Amino acid sequence: MSSSSIVTLEDVSFAYGGQPAVQNVSLAVEEGDFLGLIGPNGSGKTTLLHLMLGLHSPDSGSIELFGQPVDEFDHGEWIGYVSQQSTQKSSTMPVTVREVVTMGRFAHAGHSRLTDRDREAVVDALETVGIAELADRRINQLSGGQRQRAYIARALASDTKLLALDEPTVGVDAESRDAFYQLLDSLNEDGITIILIEHDIGVVTDRANRIACVNKELYHHGDTESFVESDALEEAYGSSGRVVHHHH
Ligand code: ADP
Repeated sequence: MSSSSIVTLEDVSFAYGGQPAVQNVSLAVEEGDFLGLIGPNGSGKTTLLHLMLGLHSPDSGSIELFGQPVDEFDHGEWIGYVSQQSTQKSSTMPVTVREVVTMGRFAHAGHSRLTDRDREAVVDALETVGIAELADRRINQLSGGQRQRAYIARALASDTKLLALDEPTVGVDAESRDAFYQLLDSLNEDGITIILIEHDIGVVTDRANRIACVNKELYHHGDTESFVESDALEEAYGSSGRVVHHHH
């Protein structure tokens, strides 16, 4: 394995009570990659992402995160995960944006008192995502797009090297969505490795340098250009009986 591998899966399988969700998947995410993870509904994308992040243990196969077996991985601060749930407007807790971002930093910090450096890191993260002026608003008063940014800021405040996002723009209006994806592009240009689950294939092929196309099994893993030229999309979606737009 090369030293720049962020995630490596070898022949990984996972089933829920006998129902396979991920079958014999091998793939590697390298430092600086923008990996688009695509496939039809129920094709195992979220499960695969959870396996990569150590949130599920595989039934078979091996997984390494930053060169460590995933079950021994002890640098949680390197990983930012924006799940579908984390962005929904569910909590009625009166927490502010600043508090949410600060909690991200403290989830992994070895100390429990806020230092000046912590405060600066929180403000820096809010500035990076463009919502510094919303720091003292309650998180539930933000729009969908603003809330997405707050959760990205929370990841950035903890020195994230890998940002994993599961359909991050569900419920976000088109304009904010474009701006959100530009933010992801610029984070990736700054060297943050990104794994993105997104149902809009065009959004993915426009920016990802690599694509993993799954339907339980892996139909394509490689650069975006060879994916666009391949039949992997039709094969992966076709086997689920769903019609998709033409990608040429
Ligand atoms: P995707 O993210 O591509 O929509 P998922 O990884 O969420 O796919 O789900 C893959 C399959 O596993 C689906 O058939 C889904 O119903 C099933 N599944 C997902 N989570 C669970 C769970 N917690 N328990 C049982 N089955 C699950």
